[in-house]
Amino acid sequence: MPELPEVQTQVDDLQALVGKRFVAIKSNSIKNFVPVFPQFREILKGLAIERIERRAKYLVFFLEKDVVMVVHFRMTGHFLIDAEDPYIRTVFELDNGTILNYSDIRKFGHFWLSDVHNYERVSGLDKLGIEPLSEEFTFAKFKEILKGKKGFLKPFLLNQKYIVGIGNIYADESAFLAGLHPLSRLENLTLKQKKKLYESIRESLRKGVENRGTTIGEYVDTTGKHGKNQYELLAYKRDGKKCLVCGTEMKRIVVGQRGTTFCRKCQEKV
Ligand SMILES: [Zn+2]
Repeated sequence: MPELPEVQTQVDDLQALVGKRFVAIKSNSIKNFVPVFPQFREILKGLAIERIERRAKYLVFFLEKDVVMVVHFRMTGHFLIDAEDPYIRTVFELDNGTILNYSDIRKFGHFWLSDVHNYERVSGLDKLGIEPLSEEFTFAKFKEILKGKKGFLKPFLLNQKYIVGIGNIYADESAFLAGLHPLSRLENLTLKQKKKLYESIRESLRKGVENRGTTIGEYVDTTGKHGKNQYELLAYKRDGKKCLVCGTEMKRIVVGQRGTTFCRKCQEKV
């Protein structure tokens, strides 16, 4: 599933569409539209894009007339600008002839259209935690989030109620960088470990953004190009390979139904 860096890369590319107007939209996979597709299409038609932002793993298109379109890629969604692949589900035509294609092999992606006062509630954005690359996410704030929390590290990193945008890739990367076993208990973290974890979350996500995302499955940018972060992964899906720091064989365990890779030697269980 596209995580913060992958969605950010798409949003960065999509900035080229700001100021353009939707003139037509058609879809061969209409089940995940709110409101229902015919209504969605009628509202969207004729509206210009004022700005495009990322929130967690969602894309938020602010349009004319206080209309907001929210998109979630789920497992395999991505946009392509004037480019195609065999899995185009929805086609947005813009007023200068630009074609914005929405591709999605597994068809789990979701679209919501609402007004500026209700879009967060309608799409579930109102239930999300803090943006890890924002200025508001300080170490003091991170300590506040951890305060009184108990349980394992990995599920905490994946929980979008606390910190958003981290999925399986960047959770494994963050835990590795922090030198913490994914089954470390939050209540046992020392101040020093919390600081290291805070920095590791930001570092792994920033590196992902700089590398324009991680392509392990289908993820591509809006031109159809792969990201580069998969060549720099330290932990994610490296089970059976040698740890890049100490040479020990990396192990895979399942935590909360998610495959999790770590180094027994470099990642301490506390
Ligand atoms: Zn190691």
